Amino acid sequence: MDQRVSLCKRRGFVFQSSELYGGLQGAYDWGPLGTELKNNLKAAWWQSNVFERDDMEGMDSTILTHPRVLEYSGHVTTFVDPLVDCRKCKSRFRADHLASASCPNCGGQDLTEPRPFNLMFRTQMGPVDHEGALAYLRPETAQHIFMNFKNVLDSTARRPPFGIAQIGKAFRNEITPRNFVFRVREFEIMELEFFVDPGTDENWHEYWVDTRLQWWERQGIARDRLELLDVPESDRAHYSKATVDLMYPFPHGLEELEGIANRTDFDLGSHTRDQEALNIQAQVRENTHSGAKLAILKPNSSDWYVPFVIEPSVGVERATLAVLNEAYDIEQLDNGKERVVLRLRPHLAPFKAAVMPLKRNHDGLVSKAREIKNLLQRLGLGRVFLEASGNIGKSYRRHDEVGTPLCMTVDFQSLEDDSVTVRDRDSMKQIRKQVSELTEFMTEFYRRPSHA
Ligand code: ATP
Repeated sequence: MDQRVSLCKRRGFVFQSSELYGGLQGAYDWGPLGTELKNNLKAAWWQSNVFERDDMEGMDSTILTHPRVLEYSGHVTTFVDPLVDCRKCKSRFRADHLASASCPNCGGQDLTEPRPFNLMFRTQMGPVDHEGALAYLRPETAQHIFMNFKNVLDSTARRPPFGIAQIGKAFRNEITPRNFVFRVREFEIMELEFFVDPGTDENWHEYWVDTRLQWWERQGIARDRLELLDVPESDRAHYSKATVDLMYPFPHGLEELEGIANRTDFDLGSHTRDQEALNIQAQVRENTHSGAKLAILKPNSSDWYVPFVIEPSVGVERATLAVLNEAYDIEQLDNGKERVVLRLRPHLAPFKAAVMPLKRNHDGLVSKAREIKNLLQRLGLGRVFLEASGNIGKSYRRHDEVGTPLCMTVDFQSLEDDSVTVRDRDSMKQIRKQVSELTEFMTEFYRRPSHA
């Protein structure tokens, strides 16, 4: 982990939040390169889950959440982790993360009994702090998708099977945030709720596990790097009938990367009025809740039913950590030296290409390089970087380390015959290309199935 953390800081991927004041625990800021990588990963998720499908809509909801939503979703009472205190050193831990009955901090044996701790952040709306002003920062984006189920249905005329996807911030007041960006208090989540007819839910659950595994493969995480965990009932969230976790070997151990849950009709059912009339199988059946009918009319009938929901859900920070970890490589070179290379899939790389003038103070070389940079930037493939440090060897090493797939060097020959040297990150092979060929070359490179 230390090597990854050091690279992330040194090269501008991730910084501790509010570091100047000692750091805010469980909160990280994304630097210039991390922001590009994270945006590319989110774009890849949106591309396959929204653009490439004909049964998905996207949405973007508020972070501030009405307390009633989280009351009836079950989060106010059940979104809790067991908290224990060490009476000796006053440290706090999640009881289910303790390996033994002693304190991991001081070794003391005097731990309190576990007590439930709600993970949701509370805030107030407006200037007066009273109970009626209470709002929550959402702990997941899913509830807002359920809140908008009818709006999306009415505005798009969808029927199950169909899904609604969303990427956005989520907040959890984790008892012990740790392992770099693996467990944080503020993170982004990519999740989709896929609405299906009851009875077809188990097949759709299998379908989504399979689909998500294929997606991970395209992000550089091969099938044999992920283990499937059928989460036992005692560890499942309150709404889940079945959950499969995709487990990845993070540098600190095998842990959940993504969860794929069968949420049944729990949420739509819980936010729906007239539950008995709808014959909902939801576990929450107290009184009527939102007053809405989050249900579908059966074809040629006056009967309604509540769809079941399959939910693949993954944190962007965890996903980025896994992708970075998988790509990190130390290669032994023939000359006995080592090179650090981040073998990111090209579509995820923060820089799509670096254009390098051989000398940094030479106007002709720099302006030629800038001209090429501007040309390639207009292709819309992502960020192209003008690397004018003037030290080509050092620049190659830096760009290997941050995963730039292509480096283009502008030298004196370029000024004579309008050609550049193109160096491939993985093979380190160099070829000469005419500037007039670069547009097609780069477009074709990023269109290769293994790169897209
Ligand atoms: P865990 O058991 O690790 O606390 P969870 O089962 O509570 O996770 P879910 O509620 O299934 O997690 O959340 C869906 C996904 O959101 C997780 O698979 C993970 O990728 C991400 N996630 C959840 N909590 C955090 C966190 N505190 N920091 C970063 N990512 C998180």
